[in-house]
Amino acid sequence: MPGTRNQDHNVWQDIVWVLAGVAAVYTLANAAAFLFNLRPLRPRKDITSGDTLLIVVAHQDDEAIIAGGAMARTLDKGGNVHVVYTADGVTRGPSLTEDAARARIARRESESLACLADLGIPGENAHFLRYENQEGLTEPPNVMRAVDYVAELIKELEPYAILTSAFEGGHCDHDMTHFIVSRAAETARFPFERVFEAPEYNRYYLREYLLRKLNDILFVKVNLPPRFLPPVSPSFALDMSRGEIARKRRLFGHFATQKPQRLAARFGFPDQFRPLSRPDYAKGPYDPRESLRYRFVDRWKHKDKAPFYGGLTNEDYRKLYERLQEETPAANAR
Ligand SMILES: [Zn+2]
Repeated sequence: MPGTRNQDHNVWQDIVWVLAGVAAVYTLANAAAFLFNLRPLRPRKDITSGDTLLIVVAHQDDEAIIAGGAMARTLDKGGNVHVVYTADGVTRGPSLTEDAARARIARRESESLACLADLGIPGENAHFLRYENQEGLTEPPNVMRAVDYVAELIKELEPYAILTSAFEGGHCDHDMTHFIVSRAAETARFPFERVFEAPEYNRYYLREYLLRKLNDILFVKVNLPPRFLPPVSPSFALDMSRGEIARKRRLFGHFATQKPQRLAARFGFPDQFRPLSRPDYAKGPYDPRESLRYRFVDRWKHKDKAPFYGGLTNEDYRKLYERLQEETPAANAR
């Protein structure tokens, strides 16, 4: 009947319009992502030299993440790099036997050694302290031992700079490593203006969370380089060339256990640093309840548990840092 055919025609026309609209929105979103990705990280500068650089991180891949560019450039200038790893890189679970854990630790260490060798850094410059992931550095005596180790190394090496991860409530081992570096620099009387921290990840920003979801469907992925918690200034990016960024991305290929492609997508940007912040560690940021992301996302997922960390609660971490700061009062200095 003519009437029905007419209705069919209208329905198909509507579907075509809707599909065209979706295609237009999708194209625009991809174009916006492309334009967004053209913005360079600013300001840019070079802090490297041809002397010894000391990097202190928690895990075997954090060195490439925070300082892939700084390491390469130091070597290019005829310098030398040492890396301290505070944690063993393997989070235990009920199904993981001790033998399997040991094998995994060895594997992660060999990945870091291959990354360092690729840059021309000898294996003896890697210092593995091997505190158990997410557990070892919740024991104050272990933390103090790590402080002493790093302080001695600073005195021995007299580095031109020390690089570490920011205290940002992303991973408890990163945060405790920040505390260790802060205390070790103080113990070794190393000038704080030559200690720098780098962002890796935190769980504060709602925008990052939403854009990552959007990236799942976009053809052109929005670049989301790590972002410092406020105050972001005076942070800067190492002035890396395209070639240097490509080289940093290739370093992630050594970390087969850590999804190299994901590492490259997430951290394949110029190194970013700012002078080491000197927070009151007992105030967090492991308790992010003021953040929008916590209010809209994490609150429902984590309830009263620490939204950022494994087994401990926010209160446990507050007490741990309080105790550590009491034992090392100078760490309270701002
Ligand atoms: Zn890490």
